[in-house]
Amino acid sequence: MRSLIDTHAHLYVGRFAEDIEQVLARATEAGVEAVVIPATKPQEFEPALQLAKRFPQIHVAIGVHPHHAAEVEDSDLDHVQELLQQGCGIAVGEIGLDYHYDFAPRPRQHEVFRRQLRIAKAVGLPAVIHNRESDQDLLQILEEEQDGSVRFQLHCFSSGLDVLERAVGLGGMISFTGNITFSKGALDDVVRAVPEDRIMVETDAPYMTPLPHRGKRNEPAFVELVAQKMAELRGTTLQEIMTTTTANAKRFFQLMLLLILACVPAAAKQSADSRQQPPADISLPTPSLPASPADSVAAPAKPSEPYEKWFGFGGHFASTSIISGSLTDANAVAGYGIWLSGTPFRSWDVHWLQLDITYTQSRNTILYDTNYTNSTGKEFAPPNDHQQFGFNFRFTGNPMSVINLHASLGLTYFRNSYGLEEWLINEVRDTNYTAFVETGLGLSGSFGIAINIKTPYGIVAPTAEWYVSKIMSERTLPRRTAEFFLSQPRLGLLFYPAFSKLF
Ligand SMILES: [Zn+2]
Ligand SMILES: [Zn+2]
Repeated sequence: MRSLIDTHAHLYVGRFAEDIEQVLARATEAGVEAVVIPATKPQEFEPALQLAKRFPQIHVAIGVHPHHAAEVEDSDLDHVQELLQQGCGIAVGEIGLDYHYDFAPRPRQHEVFRRQLRIAKAVGLPAVIHNRESDQDLLQILEEEQDGSVRFQLHCFSSGLDVLERAVGLGGMISFTGNITFSKGALDDVVRAVPEDRIMVETDAPYMTPLPHRGKRNEPAFVELVAQKMAELRGTTLQEIMTTTTANAKRFFQLMLLLILACVPAAAKQSADSRQQPPADISLPTPSLPASPADSVAAPAKPSEPYEKWFGFGGHFASTSIISGSLTDANAVAGYGIWLSGTPFRSWDVHWLQLDITYTQSRNTILYDTNYTNSTGKEFAPPNDHQQFGFNFRFTGNPMSVINLHASLGLTYFRNSYGLEEWLINEVRDTNYTAFVETGLGLSGSFGIAINIKTPYGIVAPTAEWYVSKIMSERTLPRRTAEFFLSQPRLGLLFYPAFSKLF
């Protein structure tokens, strides 16, 4: 009996828009009884699902291709999981790594690949994996994620025997496209070496057109040419290859169980509930699944957190004004410093409390003491240095929003060094002056605004706040008995690395 399954074809792309009916009619004529169409980005989910609705032989895989890893957000990956839990797809895919084009930064590719492997585990579905010139990293991630529950297919296999061996060792299925017909023998040994129960065929239409149709659009009917070449290389018959690859694909994609899956995105809750009941009327042999899909549906997904801010670092500029005290003349002087910020209580879902540690240095260089300028004849502008170490608790009213408003309260340690005194003591030998550094402890507070900008590597948060601080302890310089009160509008730029993407 003629039976083939094209396990990989992008039939929703524009190149099939005109003649999809004829394409599928030719496929049926060629014995293709099912076609798996993997989406590559969120915009393709709906067109792919529509095709599956129209044509019963079409089955959808839902996933984000490495090419699009940088464009998608966490919410898109959550959407992948939702659709699969609603029974809208038979696999996660296509996912993986592509170092040939490197359209997305590699760390982001890793992250998106790994997250989708975990989705596959969570929903109990297989993964359709794309690998281009990324053998080592891909295998390493698979090895790390393989806990016995990952079922995967390496589609369009084009690596060597060593990769084949490791992939098979990890339980992987191997699928070939038209590339085995035009690779000038480079893949012959690999095609021969794939174990009988792991091999599959695909077209990857509209790409990878097999000989003798090179240059034309590929389509599922041509999968027979791949199977034919495979039969030649493995020294067997086309019929044998058809039987083997079709059985493997049906087992891998659980095509016989599809009757119980109804994709109803609009009634997601209901669909998920109904799937928690064991399918009583299905007497087909259940493929060995590590966890039943029902289990994973029952487990509610943790709501995804829009802005991961464990720990951030950055710098700030301030305009420091000493509002009262003996140096009121010293209007606004520039300050600058470093800014560390952490959200240590996130573990307990307390996102609104942050701890800020800031260091600010402000240097006032425009001080003159006219009493001494004349007597010494020297020109001097001794700087006053004001250093502050702030430890503030920051309360954010809306931590899950793009724009956060906050207020803070804390302690500040001051270290003020007065250049004029230094100069008078060291140069003028004026005995009225005995010290030129004072330290003190005070209170500080602020209110401000921060904007969360997502990047593949973490959150970048431009932050603006008005920070005020005052020495509360007794002042250590006897001459300076006045209040010491600093007002600082400051602009900061903080970066919170995405630690979850690093581990
Ligand atoms: Zn691919
Ligand atoms: Zn593909």
